[in-house]
Amino acid sequence: MGKTIIISNRLPLQIHISENDLEVSPSVGGLATGLKSFHQEGDSIWIGWTGLAAEEIPDELEPQVAEKAKEQRCVAVSLTTEEIEKFYYGFSNRTIWPLFHYFMEYTEFDPEHWEAYKQVNQKYADAVLERVEDGDTIWVHDYQLLLLPQMIRDKNPNVTIGFFNHIPFPSYEVFRTLPWREEILTGMLGADLIGFHTYDYERHFLRSVNRILYYDINFNAVNLGDRIVKAGSFPMGIDYNKFRNAALEHQRQPSSENTEIQKKLDYHKYVSRGTPLILSIDRLDYTKGIANRIRAYGYFLEKYPEYQEKVRLVMLAVPSRTNVPQYQLLKKEIDELVGRINGRFATVNWTPIWYFYRSMPFDNLIDLYSASDVALITPIRDGMNLVAKEYIATRTDHTGVLILSEMAGSAHELNEALLINPNNFDQIVDSIKQALEMSKEEQVRRNKVMQKRLKRYNVEKWAREFMKSLKQTTITRNEIK
Ligand code: UDP
Repeated sequence: MGKTIIISNRLPLQIHISENDLEVSPSVGGLATGLKSFHQEGDSIWIGWTGLAAEEIPDELEPQVAEKAKEQRCVAVSLTTEEIEKFYYGFSNRTIWPLFHYFMEYTEFDPEHWEAYKQVNQKYADAVLERVEDGDTIWVHDYQLLLLPQMIRDKNPNVTIGFFNHIPFPSYEVFRTLPWREEILTGMLGADLIGFHTYDYERHFLRSVNRILYYDINFNAVNLGDRIVKAGSFPMGIDYNKFRNAALEHQRQPSSENTEIQKKLDYHKYVSRGTPLILSIDRLDYTKGIANRIRAYGYFLEKYPEYQEKVRLVMLAVPSRTNVPQYQLLKKEIDELVGRINGRFATVNWTPIWYFYRSMPFDNLIDLYSASDVALITPIRDGMNLVAKEYIATRTDHTGVLILSEMAGSAHELNEALLINPNNFDQIVDSIKQALEMSKEEQVRRNKVMQKRLKRYNVEKWAREFMKSLKQTTITRNEIK
């Protein structure tokens, strides 16, 4: 049996350089957790970018970076500032990201960015090809590396390749506007199995393949003539035990760290006892519907004035892609909206919105999830949305109400949440009221069903199921031969 090679844009590690000294620590995101068992098997490796521009790493430290990465079974792909600008912030985040999330008015079609995207995908492919051997299994992740499967297959057909798309795949009518649509689909079809979070994304992809490349589709299989490529839906889960155990621990021993958020939550607990907290957490991204959410909350206070001074919105917006203009504009818009609502409704004893623009350590996230009576998650489009799942998993007594946009991939698995259309203000506002007035029994009933599902279909199971299907495609291929 060959080894497993995982490839993602970023490696699951953090590198800090200070005064010619190097520190490398593993980062424990969802993907790293899910893939842990595969990544630690045999001589498996993970290939990706360190997160630092090549120019930021002094020449004399380069061998150390490679050495430290190797200790974590990682291989670092080096990207220059220009490559990061054009490949990552450019084509990945100004073309694919907005287009695949249906933000066509934000989508840029820049041939220079496209050239950089191809070149950098080739760079990742070269790093794989240097290390791959016949019989290996390769798992490529996400929208930054859509061309990689075919680039690898062109040079080595004797490997099994899986690809997972972590964001939505848009409908054919939207996808067809991309000038490089054939190349993108051909790149993806280099894989043996292409995974999506939902059945809808899978169908959109298959329809685009059929309409643009004219290949025959049979159920979930694309017939390329000499090869069959399968598509499948594999909704990504969370590390359920990690979140649940952290929440149980929090209950036994509330965080002693005196962070700002902890002070705020303590204040809330002692001064505003009995006032429900509504939580909102996302990366600051236009797909997340943050501005509309704030407007809806303002409208809620207006439509149901009896809730003024009786409820509080805690909003965490994590800085993201801050050098892309749309993100800067959105930040400004959100600052203004928060100011306007707080200015309009605040009283001596009450601020309607507590707003934090930063990322928070894991323990603080648990504090927030645990302290909040309602989670208000209203993306305009979202591939999955793990925050919704994390909120449900951390509710140790099964209370708490999730209000979730039906445009999030996770809505398919969280049917017992209050599902809303993020463009329907009245529906959002009435759902907030319904959530605040829901009986404990009903909260518990809904939460229990969802927790059970999250526990069973956790992130490890997600990875295992994908790998199992990928292996199956190889067996079928060999049988056909
Ligand atoms: N998260 C984090 N620090 C924060 C806020 C959020 O690490 O300060 C995590 C959160 O726990 C979740 C992830 O970021 O696992 C966000 O994933 P999601 O699928 O909700 O959205 P994405 O950012 O991937 O679009």
